[in-house]
Amino acid sequence: EQGRKLFAGPVEFLKGIVAMSGLPPADRLEVCFAGRSNVGKSSLINAITGRKALARASNTPGRTQEINYFTLGDSRYLVDLPGYGYANAPVAVVQKWQALLRQYLSGRQTLRRAFVLVDARHGIKPVDEEIMRLLDSAAVTFQCVLTKTDKISTAERERVLAQVRENLAPHPAAFPELILTSSEKGEGIATLRATIATLE
Ligand code: GDP
Repeated sequence: EQGRKLFAGPVEFLKGIVAMSGLPPADRLEVCFAGRSNVGKSSLINAITGRKALARASNTPGRTQEINYFTLGDSRYLVDLPGYGYANAPVAVVQKWQALLRQYLSGRQTLRRAFVLVDARHGIKPVDEEIMRLLDSAAVTFQCVLTKTDKISTAERERVLAQVRENLAPHPAAFPELILTSSEKGEGIATLRATIATLE
């Protein structure tokens, strides 16, 4: 409900793209979401849009290698990047995907921010560092979003926050503020929504 009020207009799956030629018109600002498989990306997209099964569209077989576009009303796109760190994918598939990702990140004028999702239990992993380096080189500002905070204690929270801050420090494109979220308990969802809605 809240998601729909904040983003006036339809909140829905638009399309999955496999090549730059498939991108929708760059007629509004967009944000993208990246993260390791199972980080809680679909749950978070569902939570911020206020739609229970919206992101299921991008988790169906065949869509997992695509860049999936959602409308957040008439003034924003939310872009779901495929989950990375899938060790079983064939090399050719990974290479094709990385090439598209590079083209997208460096070529999309209306992309305002990337949200890099990090499981609060695990902190930043080498594959996260990879995507962050890519974002640095494409000069796309990225903000870390910790997921599943309901699964950790206060002490663990402090530890992971310190680890993430230390890892972000050397990245020129990193936005200093972190967002702590739990799709399960609702923590940080309003903050993330408002962050997206107010980007200029
Ligand atoms: P994705 O692969 O990144 O899209 O991850 P999903 O959204 O499918 O979530 C992966 C698993 O983590 C599922 O079993 C979810 O129920 C669980 N999960 C996602 N978000 C949360 C959360 O905030 N808290 C808890 N406790 N579990 C979560």
